[in-house]
Amino acid sequence: MHSIEELAGQHFDAIIVGGGINGAGLARDLALRAHMAQHPMRVLLLEKRFWGAGTSGRNSHLIHGGLRYLKYFDFALVREALRERATLLQLAPHTVRPLRFRLSTNGVFDNLFYGVGIILYDLLAGSHRIGKSTYFGPNQAYWDAASDSAALVIDNVRDARFYGATCITGRAVKRLWGDGIELDNGVRVNGAAVIDARGPWNRGETTRLVRGSHLILPRLFPGEDAVAHFHHDGRIIFFIPWGDLNPVTLIGTTDVDHSGSADQVQISRGEIDYLRGIAKQLFPASADMETLGCFSSLRPLLAAPGKSASATSREHHIAFREDQVLEIIGGKYTTYRSMAEEAADLVCGRIAPNLVPSHPTRSTPFAVPTERPGGIPERIAWAKQEEGCETLEDFLTCSTNWAWQKRWTAEELESIAREFSGGVDAFLERYAPCD
Ligand SMILES: Cc1cc2nc3c(=O)[nH]c(=O)nc-3n(C[C@H](O)[C@H](O)[C@H](O)COP(=O)(O)OP(=O)(O)OC[C@H]3O[C@@H](n4cnc5c(N)ncnc54)[C@H](O)[C@@H]3O)c2cc1C
Repeated sequence: MHSIEELAGQHFDAIIVGGGINGAGLARDLALRAHMAQHPMRVLLLEKRFWGAGTSGRNSHLIHGGLRYLKYFDFALVREALRERATLLQLAPHTVRPLRFRLSTNGVFDNLFYGVGIILYDLLAGSHRIGKSTYFGPNQAYWDAASDSAALVIDNVRDARFYGATCITGRAVKRLWGDGIELDNGVRVNGAAVIDARGPWNRGETTRLVRGSHLILPRLFPGEDAVAHFHHDGRIIFFIPWGDLNPVTLIGTTDVDHSGSADQVQISRGEIDYLRGIAKQLFPASADMETLGCFSSLRPLLAAPGKSASATSREHHIAFREDQVLEIIGGKYTTYRSMAEEAADLVCGRIAPNLVPSHPTRSTPFAVPTERPGGIPERIAWAKQEEGCETLEDFLTCSTNWAWQKRWTAEELESIAREFSGGVDAFLERYAPCD
């Protein structure tokens, strides 16, 4: 792997800034196209923190069509997401798994309304339907899928590397322009194409940042199914069985306009009360439970004046800006592969037109091994060797989701911390309980 110093003055065919799912997916797409066609292409992916440390590792962990978008007549978005759901279930079975959602609605009218919604959802899925839905009555349920979000980002990076891409974490890009970038230490690197995949950190005039937060509580109900609660304010709150270290429930999300820095994203008192209030309404025993953890992240949405955060479209925008940097904004995690394909078509149109018709990510499984080992020592070894994980925080958040699966004490963390940099105190301060 290249060090940052080695990059100075070098030339790449494509430089991608931002190691969330969109940057990682694009790096894999370009490297795979070039490999398949035996076309020499130098791809560089740069991430300022760690793979999946932004929104891509702190979302609801769902690969879904988005039942609630039907309410806004976003049929094209839902159909595309359902198609991508099927593709990911097939190509990434190690991190994407089917999940059944039981519905929690308010009264007969809601039951009928959402029952019709599920019928439409299944019709839009067509041959990509996963399981058998129950449309009406007390056992109303539908199928979607869940993922390990940061793990899939990391696997895209590892696969991109396997096909020759250079992927580096821990260094921020200070400036981007059409044919190069400058790092925060002044090093400049040249690129025939430059792609801005900084997600919420790319704050153009047309983007609106919306914060979504999740709470983690102990398991609230038995069984493998998730619960989709349709709240009377029109929002949908998921209760998802979660956790490979401890059995927990992931609860979210909120939708709140965020005006601060993209580096300072924290759950507010109001969001905690809102999510705990709904949890208490559905599962009264949760009132006495301690919150194990919480995380928040930002959605860059294309601004739509007058619309609420929930109602604003999740459509994406991929286009060359005036400065000739290609930017990727918005969209959903679920549709990352097709977004990466669209972006790669535009990049190849400029630097390798013969690769435009090639779309290998539609059918090529991951080349690198992707099944994580169980057991803490084995998982630590995997994170260091396979993922390049160096800090305790990156291990407990992006590499695993363990940061949020229990209330850690300093003693419990010490043996893990010995394997990484960053220190126990800094971690505990940053991930203080949120209740
Ligand atoms: C609360 C919430 C829940 C969601 N749940 C779902 C869901 O369940 N299913 C779904 O399909 N979608 C979901 N989404 C949407 C989805 O998560 C996002 O669309 C997707 O993760 C965006 O990925 P990204 O790569 O564009 O951004 P990010 O993941 O934020 O990646 C951007 C990266 O750029 C890096 N970066 C920033 N500045 C620089 C710089 N100067 N130099 C180098 N690197 C830089 C950041 O560190 C970051 O890692 C959710 C969104 C939110 C907010």
